[in-house]
Amino acid sequence: MKKYLFGLSVLLIVVLVASLYGYATAFNIRNVESFTIDGEIVSLEEEQSSTFIRRMQSLKQYDVISEHQGNIFKHIVLNMKFGDSVSFELGLDYNFNTLSLKDISTDRIYLIDDELVEWIYMQPAIEDIYYYASPKRHKLTINDQAIEQSSVDYHYTKANGVWYNESNEIGSITSLVIHEPVLEFNVEGDGETELKVFRDDELLYDGSLEAFEVPQENGDYTVVVESTWKDLLFYGSDTSTFKLSVQYPPELSMTKTFIRQGEFTVIRIKNVYDKELLYLEQDYMEGLQFTKNGTYYECVIPSTYYTTPGFYTFKYGVGEYGDEIELEVVDREFNLQFLTVSSSTVNSTQTDEAYEQYNAYYKPALEKDVYVTTEPYLEEDNFTLPASGRLTTEFGVQRYVNNKPTSYHHNGLDIANSEGTPIVATYDGEVVLAMELMVTGNTVVISHGNGLFSSYLHMSELNCEEGDVVKAGDLIGKMGTTGFSTGSHLHFSISYHRMYMEPGYFLFGEPVTYDNYNQLIN
Ligand SMILES: [Zn+2]
Repeated sequence: MKKYLFGLSVLLIVVLVASLYGYATAFNIRNVESFTIDGEIVSLEEEQSSTFIRRMQSLKQYDVISEHQGNIFKHIVLNMKFGDSVSFELGLDYNFNTLSLKDISTDRIYLIDDELVEWIYMQPAIEDIYYYASPKRHKLTINDQAIEQSSVDYHYTKANGVWYNESNEIGSITSLVIHEPVLEFNVEGDGETELKVFRDDELLYDGSLEAFEVPQENGDYTVVVESTWKDLLFYGSDTSTFKLSVQYPPELSMTKTFIRQGEFTVIRIKNVYDKELLYLEQDYMEGLQFTKNGTYYECVIPSTYYTTPGFYTFKYGVGEYGDEIELEVVDREFNLQFLTVSSSTVNSTQTDEAYEQYNAYYKPALEKDVYVTTEPYLEEDNFTLPASGRLTTEFGVQRYVNNKPTSYHHNGLDIANSEGTPIVATYDGEVVLAMELMVTGNTVVISHGNGLFSSYLHMSELNCEEGDVVKAGDLIGKMGTTGFSTGSHLHFSISYHRMYMEPGYFLFGEPVTYDNYNQLIN
């Protein structure tokens, strides 16, 4: 487009048939300076000049027949009847600098005086020369669907140098639904095109069409595509705003369909368009729920030593997309452990007051799911062993205290070492409890997000406070034998909403036993 407007002076051809009626006119024809193509300076006869100007003044738009080729005028015929005699071509220069008149019979060209040029260009009859005066419009299609324009802002100038503006809010909003991550933009029209993508009010993308990537996550987005044009005689923009509804089909999975007591599995659903449509039918346990982690909705299915072995059916999905999976929970033979605890320890720790305190502080801490993580549910075996030492009690062992069987299974791992051995956080999280309790001694509970917690008991001292955000490996305390304890050791447990799981799956990807412990830690 520019090359036409800058380089070429496009001549619009006007044929005038002038007759020689003598009329008086407000314009002085002697202002017209004339010369021939041979360079000979001649004057247009005064009477011819007056007639031309008079005819221009009285010309009506319906007298003009114009021919376009794209945006460029090829030809204009001014339908003037002047009898026979002289024919003229009117040459229009798109830069509005000159105007020439050519006598067809003699090939003489007459340059029209500057003062008359603007006047002629502003005659309503030849308004069509401002072909760009109506807003340019881009045609936008995405995936072959036409996207309507929502607003236009347009500025243009005429020979008089005045800038005219046209703006309108069309307000059309098209909806586009995609089920796969493909958006093929096709913009017809000159200029630059950029786009902005919003989700709710958050600006997610602002840039070129080329660098734009289709959203990976299901949901509703607002997309604003703005195309701009700029030239000497006009500039402006048009905008198409549309609602993009990303509805990729859900992907359903269960990470494991076979678990041992103390192990867990996770239902994962990716591409959830509407979380209200999530459903889960099962008779495994109460309280199972989906939480959003990154682009997944996840439901953790924990198990522990009291989970009844067997097959459990899970029906789950989102809307019309569903799956049915059979989960098998396998019995794990837990060892027995015989403990002798001195009567003074029993007397000081196994009191009503001690258990009231335990219930008031420790148990609620295991529900303070405060740490926020957007990652998928914690993957196995990337946790840090919180202390060095010997494994003195496995997860799940059934205990006999002073030769009396208890109904309790050991809910974590006991790691024994000398008093003062450093104890570190097993994973990133926030400390939700750091205090001395009668039963558990100096106790720390860390929230790791997504309902997962780790606990550290019987420490000789605390090196963190409630509210501290810790990283895996950060010092949180020292090993000791405070509370109901028979010697310096760390009791370390991992729970999901109070259900204790085998820490070995988080530390090593398998249960920790007396047999494999030394091998696993080396
Ligand atoms: Zn223990």
